[in-house]
Amino acid sequence: MGKPSLSLSCLPQTSVYVMGSTLHGRLRTKDVLLKWGMQITRDCVLCGSHLETLPHLFFDCVYSTEVWQGILLWLHWKRTILTWERECCWIQQTCKSRTPREALLKACFASVVHGV
Ligand SMILES: [Zn+2]
Repeated sequence: MGKPSLSLSCLPQTSVYVMGSTLHGRLRTKDVLLKWGMQITRDCVLCGSHLETLPHLFFDCVYSTEVWQGILLWLHWKRTILTWERECCWIQQTCKSRTPREALLKACFASVVHGV
């Protein structure tokens, strides 16, 4: 499976940057910072009970999952939240239709990633 990609030209540059960094595995989660030798706590900044990794933040963590689930329900998508890669694939496939609803979905996804 290749790296997922999303076109985010309609979003603020900071959201585009964070989304791009996350999609390409460059998000500096605590597991990465610990490998670099930084003296920090290992726990997830959201739940405080798991090692903070990209897969944990998106979407093993109960808090980020709850946020994303709430937004999906607000957009009238009832589905189970999957792993980071599978969510990206779902967004990519779903947003091919380029309707306003799908554009909003993509923007919300990028905002959740940026916010988390
Ligand atoms: Zn967590």
